[in-house]
Amino acid sequence: MRRCVYFILQTVLLAGCVSSSDGTMNRSLDSFRGESACYNRETEPYTAVVDTHLHYRPFDGKAIPFDEMNTYLSRTSVRFVNVYGIGQMLPANSSCSDYSKCPGIPVLPTTRNDFVNAENMLASAPDDLHLTLSMTFTDLSNPESTIALMALYEKEYPGMFHWMGEVNLVKQAQFNNHHVPASPQNIEQWADFMVELRVRNYPITIHSDIGNDANPTYYLHLMEKALARYPDNKIVWAHMGMSYQQTKMKASEHIAILSALLDQHPNLMLDISWRVLDDYYFSKKENQPLYVAFMNQYSERILPGSDFVAFRGNSYEVYQRELNATGRIHQYLDDNAFRNIVLGENYFKLLNLDYQAPAVCL
Ligand SMILES: [Zn+2]
Repeated sequence: MRRCVYFILQTVLLAGCVSSSDGTMNRSLDSFRGESACYNRETEPYTAVVDTHLHYRPFDGKAIPFDEMNTYLSRTSVRFVNVYGIGQMLPANSSCSDYSKCPGIPVLPTTRNDFVNAENMLASAPDDLHLTLSMTFTDLSNPESTIALMALYEKEYPGMFHWMGEVNLVKQAQFNNHHVPASPQNIEQWADFMVELRVRNYPITIHSDIGNDANPTYYLHLMEKALARYPDNKIVWAHMGMSYQQTKMKASEHIAILSALLDQHPNLMLDISWRVLDDYYFSKKENQPLYVAFMNQYSERILPGSDFVAFRGNSYEVYQRELNATGRIHQYLDDNAFRNIVLGENYFKLLNLDYQAPAVCL
């Protein structure tokens, strides 16, 4: 990889760029600090400059080393990233690494991964990427200790965390590993930490399955309750509520649910991370125009992400593949939506970051 400066005759603007080994031209972090050359969608990547959903830590703690993960990112279009732990971990003394193959073994919320991420940030924050540390420890079905732990994080790592999540309201994939959905009563019990999140201006990313193929909207009431109870919080709904348990919902029904909630709750945003969305929804021929129209309409309410998990065995190639899959739909967005979602404008506004997305070339 080498750094370079290229000259855009059309706009007579200089922009930093980084060329990767495969020859694609990726922009530097610095190029987002102010006005920059317009973005040429024909020659520059369709993958996003922001990955708002990246798990730097896996369930079993055996991770791709932090510096190595960052070098993977540097080779892609991504310059801004949310550093998620994974809140839920296998027991420290377990030999299981894939919870889905170990039913009965608990996968439960813990602070371990967040502390490792914070220590890594202190030791070697990269200068060519903008990393946002996220608290992922919160147990939404057992929330009493959350506020005290937030205070502990602030004491140990003042000013370093700026996000909460991904946290699980209901995640059916972990039902065999002791995860229980938060109840409506539990959602009431979030009140103290939700106030604290508002005060600190942290968004919270919530994983909450809409339902499953047998009962398509079985769990929807939980997300509806959370949104109604905390309308002033910046809530990001992970994966548009989808999962491997639900791959057959009609696009029109899915979009109707999302549209209604976006209309009712102005602070709600959707995270389109995880390839399950492209594999089972966006890429279907009859669905794609519907989802593209939806994303164009609600373009200020959508955040991109890979949902990559930095398991030790995963490689740069796997990361790039996930980025391509989750970004495939970007190619069909209109220029306004492309700038808001893919070029980072929504993310910069959400976090009040002093960065700006380039305009798309006409
Ligand atoms: Zn995730």
